[in-house]
Amino acid sequence: MHGLKRRNPGENEFHQAVIEVAEDILPFIEDKPIYTEMRILERFTEPDRIIIFRVCWVDDRGNTRVNRGFRVQHNNAIGPYKGGIRFHSDLRLSVLKALAFDQTLKNSLTGLPMGGAKGGADFNPKGKSDGEVMRFCQSYMNELYRHIGPQTDIPAGDIGVGIREISFLFGQYRRLTNTFTGALTGKGLAFGGSLIRTEATGYGCVYMMEAMLKRKGQDLSDKTALVSGSGNVAQYTAEKLIELGAHVVTLSDSSGFIYDPEGIDTEKMEYVKQLKNVERGRIQEYARKYGVEYHEGQKPWKVPCDLAFPCATQNEIDTDDAKTLVKNGCMALAEGANLPTSLGGVRVFQDAKILYATSISASAGGVAVSGLEMTQNVMRLTWSREELDKQLCSIMTDIHEKCVEYGTEGDYVNYRRGANIAGFFKVANAMLACGVV
Ligand code: NAP
Repeated sequence: MHGLKRRNPGENEFHQAVIEVAEDILPFIEDKPIYTEMRILERFTEPDRIIIFRVCWVDDRGNTRVNRGFRVQHNNAIGPYKGGIRFHSDLRLSVLKALAFDQTLKNSLTGLPMGGAKGGADFNPKGKSDGEVMRFCQSYMNELYRHIGPQTDIPAGDIGVGIREISFLFGQYRRLTNTFTGALTGKGLAFGGSLIRTEATGYGCVYMMEAMLKRKGQDLSDKTALVSGSGNVAQYTAEKLIELGAHVVTLSDSSGFIYDPEGIDTEKMEYVKQLKNVERGRIQEYARKYGVEYHEGQKPWKVPCDLAFPCATQNEIDTDDAKTLVKNGCMALAEGANLPTSLGGVRVFQDAKILYATSISASAGGVAVSGLEMTQNVMRLTWSREELDKQLCSIMTDIHEKCVEYGTEGDYVNYRRGANIAGFFKVANAMLACGVV
């Protein structure tokens, strides 16, 4: 860790991601000297490649604007690089390195042949016209296209990058390369996209929770659930929870959260989708429409619950939030967002021994269905919604089993440890087999 901090000064999010994994990996490889001799962990913490580039574009008033684009290609030992693109004004390289590092473990855990990557730009799509977003995406792709491709690196969406942005990015990639290939996932259904991809991360997160509860002889019905965020992952986590009988009482955005004690139902969820995806409005409008509480500038974690699903962003649960959740009766938590819990918060959940699935396992459903989208693109066929949902559920159940296999400590399943070790083991063995590269 000392060497890592020296080589990556000030990159706190990246340090945090590595610590969380190294704590589990180091004891695991202690009696396996080959991993240490071949410096596997050190090699694993050094991304294969980082690309940083200027992105110039022209806004609707004719002003020239300049942003910074990134792609971190972390590890391709078990398959081509794969991971989302994030557009967010505060985006820093440290966050992307942390996310790319975790993505490699997550992709390995799915059992599909995918390496790990993450990318994005410090561009804020909020308040921009469709034309501005299109021009930005085209300019971003003017550089990125040199570094990606269906056998090399296959980006997808993430915060600020949904179907609109992926479509613009794909259009420009097609134009620049004069090819029609599955170089991006999360595409529209008319041009190579997969059914269930939009829903996959949220649905997968709920399937992971269901598997954890089932092992304890419980299910989701009548459990009170907190969901944070109101974007892609939050919407479909809430939707699946409602379908399976849970009582979802919160949603949020970066301005605050709503508390609906009656529970959010299917009709209200349709309103949220329209509000966030079409009108691009704020979650506060839900509170106005349905006459419920809105808590400006706050996170939902103080509301008493059985289950919690952080689905917004990194470090949205700090130590105090975690303590409040546990004190108020939260018995299980599944992370739909990437790295949403601070290191202090992780300790609180593990000490309290609640059922706790970190993002490496709980948010793997999206990339799993992206993997299935890649397969469909190569085979030039389309699987049905039912078939894909079945495959998603089966992948999440397998992930749960791997966590149990590697994470069981007496009566307690340390799901974080299980996911970290299972994800690492496969990549590490591929790295060993392929020599010093
Ligand atoms: P999204 O559709 O852009 O939604 C993001 C949500 O988080 C929005 O409600 C947003 O509120 C909120 N948010 C963003 N920054 C925030 C902050 N600093 N504080 C509080 N809330 C904040 O993105 P998404 O695809 O749902 O991704 C959400 C999380 O899931 C991310 O951690 C992402 O890496 C992870 N993830 C996504 C996928 C996927 O398939 N999309 C897969 C695996 C993991 P505003 O509207 O106010 O910005």
